[in-house]
Amino acid sequence: MTRPQTFTNTILKWYQHNGRKDLPWRKNITPYRVWISEVMLQQTQVTTVIPYYQRFMQSFPTITALAKAPLDQVLAHWAGLGYYSRARNLHKTAQIIVSKWKGKFPVNFDEIVNLPGIGRSTAGAILSIAMQTSTPILDGNVKRVLCRFHAIAKWPGKTEITNQLWELATQHTPKQRADDYAQAIMDFGATLCTRTKPRCDICPVQKHCAAFKENKMHIYPVARPSKTIPTKTTQAILLYNKDNQILLQQRPPTGIWGGLWSLPECPTEEDAVDWFAKYYQLEIHHVAELPVLRHSFSHYHLHIYPVVAKLRGMKGVMESPGQIWYSSEQLTAVGCPAPIKKLLAKVKFT
Ligand code: SF4
Repeated sequence: MTRPQTFTNTILKWYQHNGRKDLPWRKNITPYRVWISEVMLQQTQVTTVIPYYQRFMQSFPTITALAKAPLDQVLAHWAGLGYYSRARNLHKTAQIIVSKWKGKFPVNFDEIVNLPGIGRSTAGAILSIAMQTSTPILDGNVKRVLCRFHAIAKWPGKTEITNQLWELATQHTPKQRADDYAQAIMDFGATLCTRTKPRCDICPVQKHCAAFKENKMHIYPVARPSKTIPTKTTQAILLYNKDNQILLQQRPPTGIWGGLWSLPECPTEEDAVDWFAKYYQLEIHHVAELPVLRHSFSHYHLHIYPVVAKLRGMKGVMESPGQIWYSSEQLTAVGCPAPIKKLLAKVKFT
């Protein structure tokens, strides 16, 4: 059994020459900048996150700026990253920090971890990286490394295994240089002990890695017991008015795409023309059907059937707080779900 300290020292040494020190959130480190990067990086690749992060920081350079911004603007900056509840939580948390701590990030673990959208690992990253307080982290990359290094032969989502991994993460986190270690172990998982092609041939901890000894690197971390994901369907109506604008509606604040602007939807078993007459007392005529859009969430697949329609006559839908007529120039001004944004970018407005 290797001493936890041996693993830690080797990872820290590796980091000196191989760490990704040029990432934008590794510069001008503050709790705010670390927090935003950690939330954006959850289940999203670094290369995807970088431009989002830079745009976000440009528009909301401080916690106060984020707290003051309209939620719609924050969601527009998030569109494409998915999991919009994260953006709503960032906004809510910024407002709490401003009202409770005058815009200064709290320094106590319990206070941080109780903020909306901040889990134990994100709190650990903020404390370690931005405040040099030795606190363990356990994101996806770290879990994978620990599962392999210690050959943890059960699904890490099980409570007892999660607890075991936190225990190991705590043992490996050094008292000194916790900031470097947090970044080092994340980089190690992201660039060397990767999900599909771990570079065991050049790995500095290979000699003590249990998965390598068993030559079973690819079975760790053990996958979640499989369950079938259902498929849901919907029709999305691209309804044009006489000025060739499209009707958008704001979705309810909670649930899928909560708070974002999207197309009116109707169940696939309904006729879109009848549906509009029934629910909006509007006469529309069916113009065309576009190819199905497929989108997957973690818990279901969604097949969207787009229907192009036009308002009959001059009578229109009034704009209201949850309803706007949208033209191509507004493409980036409102927060739209990524697949709807793609569809809107494709369709012609004239
Ligand atoms: Fe990961 Fe391979 Fe290194 Fe083990 S030897 S930690 S599996 S890269």
